[in-house]
Amino acid sequence: MTRDETSLLARVEALLADPAHARHPLHEALEDLYRHHLEEKERLERLISISDTYQRYAREDELSARQRYDKALKRQAKLSRISDRYQQLMREHNLALKQDSTHDPLTGLPNRRLFGERLKQEAKCAKRHPQSYTLAMLDIDHFKRINDRHGHDVGDQVLVAIAHVMRQELRDYDLCARWGGEEFLLLLADTQLEEAHAIVDRLRQRLSEIPITVGDMTLSITASAGLSEHRNGENPLEETLHRADQALLRAKRSGRDRSCVDLA
Ligand code: GH3
Ligand code: MG
Ligand code: MG
Repeated sequence: MTRDETSLLARVEALLADPAHARHPLHEALEDLYRHHLEEKERLERLISISDTYQRYAREDELSARQRYDKALKRQAKLSRISDRYQQLMREHNLALKQDSTHDPLTGLPNRRLFGERLKQEAKCAKRHPQSYTLAMLDIDHFKRINDRHGHDVGDQVLVAIAHVMRQELRDYDLCARWGGEEFLLLLADTQLEEAHAIVDRLRQRLSEIPITVGDMTLSITASAGLSEHRNGENPLEETLHRADQALLRAKRSGRDRSCVDLA
């Protein structure tokens, strides 16, 4: 209430209370007006109070709605992160599965399955752009002796070292798989027999230079190999490989530590 209003009301109250004006013709009307004013004032104050309360609730509602929204956003972001992480794990898991199913766990070299797939691709390419490739089956000589004399762990280490040298020596477009225990199959792409022979002999030379130390002894290994060049229309995993195997047998029978080519 303003100061003017307070003093006006006080003046009216004083006039109404003054017995000298009790019989004045305007007394009753002034008294009614005074009461009406007080009632209106009270109603106005109630309305203001209701409006204030309503606005406070509205503000609180707005605040809690915003908090709920922020919380939902945070939850959503967290779910997205979990989902991303899960998908990443699945991708890694699938890659690991693929790696396990196509590679040898000891040496990390491709296994038979991957080699077979690559040969199929090579056969498709050969149909479009006829070019020869050579298969070489390479077998470590007397490998059993290494296991027998120095233990299986040493044998494993030798296999890992062999795989390492093969990766270094072969060209990017060649493929070397661990075919079995101490047998490796090489696919020398776009390579004829004579050139392949030179590559395999250079590889055998490198293998024989691997220093294998067991305690204070240094050992070395030798390898034998059989090579066959793929012929048009031939089944690589049966016929070409069989001819390479036969050549390997000849290399073993004629004293090991050598490579023989299939000339049949
Ligand atoms: P050859 O010159 O006639 O090839 O004789 P070899 O002793 O190399 O051949 P053989 O087939 O008699 O023996 C192969 C040995 O390779 C026997 C086996 O224990 C060993 N071998 C196969 N796989 C592994 C492996 O993963 N780790 C180890 N340490 N040895 C293996
Ligand atoms: Mg052997
Ligand atoms: Mg063997």
